[in-house]
Amino acid sequence: MAMKKNICILGSTGSIGTNSLNVIKTFNDKFKVRILSAKNNIKLLENQIKEFQPQIVAVSEYDAAVQLRKKINKKIKILSGTDGLIEAASDPGVDIVINSLVGFSGLHPTIEAIKNGKIIALANKETLVAAGSVIMPMLKKYGATLIPIDSEHSAILQCLIGEKAENINRIILTASGGPFLHTPKNKFIKITKAEALKHPNWSMGNKITIDSATMMNKGLEVIEAHWLFNVPAEKIDVLIHPQSIIHSMVEFIDGSFKAQLGMPDMRMPIQYALSYPDRLPANYQRVNFSSLGKITFYEPDKNKFECLQLAYNVLKKGGTAPAVLNATNEVAVEKFLSGDLPFHKIPRLISAAIEKIKSIKNPSIEDIEKADRLAREFAHKNIH
Ligand code: MG
Repeated sequence: MAMKKNICILGSTGSIGTNSLNVIKTFNDKFKVRILSAKNNIKLLENQIKEFQPQIVAVSEYDAAVQLRKKINKKIKILSGTDGLIEAASDPGVDIVINSLVGFSGLHPTIEAIKNGKIIALANKETLVAAGSVIMPMLKKYGATLIPIDSEHSAILQCLIGEKAENINRIILTASGGPFLHTPKNKFIKITKAEALKHPNWSMGNKITIDSATMMNKGLEVIEAHWLFNVPAEKIDVLIHPQSIIHSMVEFIDGSFKAQLGMPDMRMPIQYALSYPDRLPANYQRVNFSSLGKITFYEPDKNKFECLQLAYNVLKKGGTAPAVLNATNEVAVEKFLSGDLPFHKIPRLISAAIEKIKSIKNPSIEDIEKADRLAREFAHKNIH
């Protein structure tokens, strides 16, 4: 029997993290948890440690790491802080790193995992949005593999198997449209946190749920698709498909389309990332086409969902502009959730930052980090 693959999960207490553990539990003859990590949810982490018996845990908040030390088996190594995440991502005993960290904080662990030639199952799309121009050449240089967990990109990856790059006409990213698909723009001013956190199809963390409500999530995914599949912005379209059954499609030069379908269940793209390029038998709920009735499609309204347009703009602009968009968006979402920024002002803040902060061409990691820092400062200063 083949050796079990050792897994490191960065962000094991979040939505992707818990779904990943669910997959690993189902296939415990193939995968073994070596490292778990959380920011500060010690209670859930403690339960996960009991169940999955990792050798190492990484806790990014120091106080939480101290708390955990008192509660668990002394044989388990505890890492803390950002350095702990980096050590976890580069651990020699790890085969696959699942990166489900939220936001720009996922960048450095991804880089470390690449430098150590790991297989990276990436749910942290912000890494590619901000630093795709640096990450993609690095993968080649170090012989590392990056497999998307994002359902749309997992779909495209599956559609492109056996296909030549020159035969791609268009990538079509499907989008649920979020909770405000049918809300007129003049009502955006009144949108509350509770309304924005109610996603119709997917149960996810707060950051991505708000990104779905503004459709910034789809914008970030357009940029992510550009880097993963080396396709220009003009050849990446977004199509609203509220049922989230078609996870994305590729149109080829002969007019033929390939789509990947399935129920909206994150365990499927997670499992595919872990078993890629192979598949494993699973019992997740299947699509029942005859009871589905109809599936529908709409053009996205980029005037209403300005964040989606902004993402296309920065992708065309290139350089550090996507990093600025990403950083400002992270602050904007945080401020919306804390009640300090109204929903309709999220795109305005981002647009102002993109205009104000000069984009640097062919950026280094340091340039990207600086752009990220400047954008955050700008966002904090201009929130009111
Ligand atoms: Mg997605």
